[in-house]
Amino acid sequence: MTEYLTTVGLEVHAQVNTAAKMFDGCSADYAGGDPNTRISVVSLGLPGALPVVNMHAIELAAMTGLALNCTIQPVSIFARKSYIYPDLPKGYQITQYEEPLCTDGWVEIEGDDGQPYRVGIERVHIEEDTGRLLHMPDGSSLIDYNRSGVPLMEIVSKPDIRSPEEAKRYFQKLRQILLWIGVNTGNLEEGALRCDANVSVRPPTQQKYGAKVEIKNINSFRFVERAIAYEVQRQIDELEAGGTIVQETRGWNEAQGITVSQRSKESAHDYRYFPEPDIPPLVFDAEWIAARVAAMPELPDARRDRFMAEYSLSRQDAELLTTERPVADYFEATVTAATSVGATARDAATWIGGELFRLLKDHNEGTEQLARRMPPQYIAEVLELLGKQTITRTVAKQLFEESFHEGSSPAAMVAERGLKQISDSDALSEVARNVVEQHQKVVAEYRGGKSSAIQFLVGQMMKATKGQANPQLARETLEALLGTPDSAA
Ligand code: MN
Repeated sequence: MTEYLTTVGLEVHAQVNTAAKMFDGCSADYAGGDPNTRISVVSLGLPGALPVVNMHAIELAAMTGLALNCTIQPVSIFARKSYIYPDLPKGYQITQYEEPLCTDGWVEIEGDDGQPYRVGIERVHIEEDTGRLLHMPDGSSLIDYNRSGVPLMEIVSKPDIRSPEEAKRYFQKLRQILLWIGVNTGNLEEGALRCDANVSVRPPTQQKYGAKVEIKNINSFRFVERAIAYEVQRQIDELEAGGTIVQETRGWNEAQGITVSQRSKESAHDYRYFPEPDIPPLVFDAEWIAARVAAMPELPDARRDRFMAEYSLSRQDAELLTTERPVADYFEATVTAATSVGATARDAATWIGGELFRLLKDHNEGTEQLARRMPPQYIAEVLELLGKQTITRTVAKQLFEESFHEGSSPAAMVAERGLKQISDSDALSEVARNVVEQHQKVVAEYRGGKSSAIQFLVGQMMKATKGQANPQLARETLEALLGTPDSAA
């Protein structure tokens, strides 16, 4: 059987995180309030209503373009894309066509070979969202125009993606970047971020791309991967059986795990694009573009690389701590607090990536709770108590968890509850004598030559002191008490 090459391009629609809609100043909070309460003559498309561009949305889209390494075009033009559907009251969507806002960028993902791989970005353009249809059980349909006119960015990749897995990683990477710069909520379930996948296959000997099939409106990372994988196999099977691939639009049926033909694909001319006569061209001078560049925060990949270089973090830790911008900020605030008490950035990374993330997960809490649950200062306190050997590691973990639950300062808790490490040899000798008395059998094994048995006895001492015994001293005290094991046995 022939091997086939897979070619995928993604068109991602992302709602722009603005308070107002794209062209009329209505609230863009389409999910809030009753249906059809956030509408105007513009979002209803009434004759004679004139659109006014939301410049904040344009700014955020330009930021997005820059974050995706695109060029911001000095002049871009809105266009009308005509089609008839009940969720589109004007009979056309205002979008951009031949002259989009941003062009020719790239996003770096991890390729299937584990190497960094750049997926080209064809364009980022601005358009408006449609209304929403609700299909009722009795066969009737209701329409809510609250979403009509909500600002959207369409991010179109080049056909550079080579597998379902790469498509998923690309989509995830886009979400990470959009959230990072604050232009999108990242909420796939609500449809704030959704994608269409163009999929084709061809034999390696064939230069020309195979006929492409577009899978519409995929709204989860898992579905992207599954839908593309299914579609690739469907096309290969079709070709192997001697058939041909028809260019068409298909939908993903998650329940059955298949793509289903919806309609034959329209070509651009079916949409009768022409420049929107009611909106003048967007014109940006170099100064405006430079100001957007200056406002761009350090992006996740750059920050990951800096964490590795500046704090000697492993790539894995650096990646974990830069998945979301608030996490990266929280980590760096903790580094500042930790290094001021003599601990290292890696200590901070270990406690955040280990204990803290585990506790958040156990409590089903998101990373937005990090600083509230555990102020950076508290982590620094734990690290300082450990560094000065005031507490043991066991106590440190307990303390960390209690602090997480109660929101109280670990240093204060140590002072209040007397959790200090026991390094007093008289006190430890007494504990050791009790443990030896209670575990004569283990003591006999130890004396008989099973030197590892001492671990158990140390453990018993830790238990008896609620984790406060200095483990090294506890061990030494036991060894002194029991003498050297009989190595001859
Ligand atoms: Mn679109």
